[in-house]
Amino acid sequence: MTLIINKHSNNIFWFDLCPNNESNFISVYVIIDKKISLIETGPASSHNTLLAGIKQIGLSPEDIDYIIPTHIHLDHFGGGGHMMEVCKNAKSIVHPNAYKHVSSIDRWWSGSHDFLGSIADLYGKPKPIPEKRLISAEDGFELSLGSQNLKGLHTPGHAPHHITWVYGEEAFVGDSAGLWYPNIGSSFPVTPGYYRHDLALESIKKMDKLDLAYIHYTHFGPRIAKGVFRETRKEFELWMEVVEKGYQEDKSSNIILKELFEIRPGLEATHLSHGLHQMETHLGTVKGMLHWVRRINAQD
Ligand SMILES: [Zn+2]
Repeated sequence: MTLIINKHSNNIFWFDLCPNNESNFISVYVIIDKKISLIETGPASSHNTLLAGIKQIGLSPEDIDYIIPTHIHLDHFGGGGHMMEVCKNAKSIVHPNAYKHVSSIDRWWSGSHDFLGSIADLYGKPKPIPEKRLISAEDGFELSLGSQNLKGLHTPGHAPHHITWVYGEEAFVGDSAGLWYPNIGSSFPVTPGYYRHDLALESIKKMDKLDLAYIHYTHFGPRIAKGVFRETRKEFELWMEVVEKGYQEDKSSNIILKELFEIRPGLEATHLSHGLHQMETHLGTVKGMLHWVRRINAQD
């Protein structure tokens, strides 16, 4: 298998993992400093592709010191346990809330299955990681990789256990800033069924305070950071306004999504070009936001 390895800088490499041949969906990153770190592993089903990419960069699995997910959704870390098995010298760094799920996978797997249905099978079942090989990262966690530190910033909203990893002027943002479509130059929010809009906005604000040159999305690829978080915040707020209005007028999530297609340039095209894994992603985001609005209104 030959992959295209992208060299972002002298010590950051990334490539398209192409799960089940779906391109431009999942990017994984390798930081080569005195210590070598892998950011995201993708799903279990992409394990062999991930290994091929690591080898193409010129590394062997034993060279990897840290395996670090932004969060443990299956598209980001479903292959974490598989990778830890072959990367014999590695430790994995996860959010304290994710710790027990990756060491004992039953609830993680059944929860993923409940939410994703057959897509979970497409991603494959994770393998557990022994606790002694896990490091729990509190908010503000810091680790020296050699020339620079890697810092973990808790960025909940998309998931309660989400971490943005900051390395110098670069940040690996997972899903906390939405989905980036480099071909149209836009990003859109992404939420699962249980979404916290208040925390998502707070996290974006927190990231905006960092002095970044680049942000690295998992979906998909690097982006120049200037102005991005302000723009992202506006985009999240605009979607929420449309969803809230739709809720007041008792509209279905499908109708609300159609309205968004009309007012957000490029959105419908991204929807149409989504492959198997992402088929209903934007609809899922509308549903997640609608669920948030319902919860907020039930509290009043
Ligand atoms: Zn994701």
